[in-house]
Amino acid sequence: MLRKFICVEGCSDCCVYRDYYPSIEYGKIGVLILPEEKPKIEAIAVKTDVKIKIIPRLGLGKSKKRTNGPQKIIAYQMMGKNFNGNLCPFLDVENLDRSPHGGFKCRIYEERPLACRAYPVIEENSGGSSSSVALDNKCTFCYKHSTTNAERNGLQREAEALIKIKADMYVDKKTKVWRYATSIGDDENKTKLLPEGWVLQNI
Ligand code: SF4
Ligand code: SF4
Repeated sequence: MLRKFICVEGCSDCCVYRDYYPSIEYGKIGVLILPEEKPKIEAIAVKTDVKIKIIPRLGLGKSKKRTNGPQKIIAYQMMGKNFNGNLCPFLDVENLDRSPHGGFKCRIYEERPLACRAYPVIEENSGGSSSSVALDNKCTFCYKHSTTNAERNGLQREAEALIKIKADMYVDKKTKVWRYATSIGDDENKTKLLPEGWVLQNI
């Protein structure tokens, strides 16, 4: 049976729980922020008096030297406010007021980052040369209804946001990609984390 995507009653999981990506060593990632979104999100944080931390996520460069770091940052990330990297700072967990589906409210819903608009549509196999658009089974809705195809489920707007992100991140084969290790995670994984900083991905 086809179902239109709508957040599960009371769920705010994607605004709370963050993943280790691409592996535990790199630490937990934050909400992806494109360079052109960064000043806007920072200005909103000042205006709404919300403390945020935005650090780099992906960078590009021509040098093969592991110590150089990228010349250009193509993506940032807004870190969760808990010590273990969870909980988006813009999720209003103190307010009794709830969103229409009963979850916590996003303080910046109308101006939320593209990555939040895209979710639960994600890019599958984002590390390889070929990739496809899929639904993230970590999303409670997708898990509950075992959905696999974005277009069947009224997720066109989310897919469009993902396509915009992908277009902004196009990388030619000669360019070196750097990923920023966050060094943030749960206590039991602390010893496995790389130190915070850039790691060259393709040599
Ligand atoms: S995890 Fe899925 S169902 Fe839950 S709030 Fe996020 S998008 Fe909605
Ligand atoms: S900005 Fe809003 S929608 Fe995005 S993760 Fe934070 S609370 Fe959720």
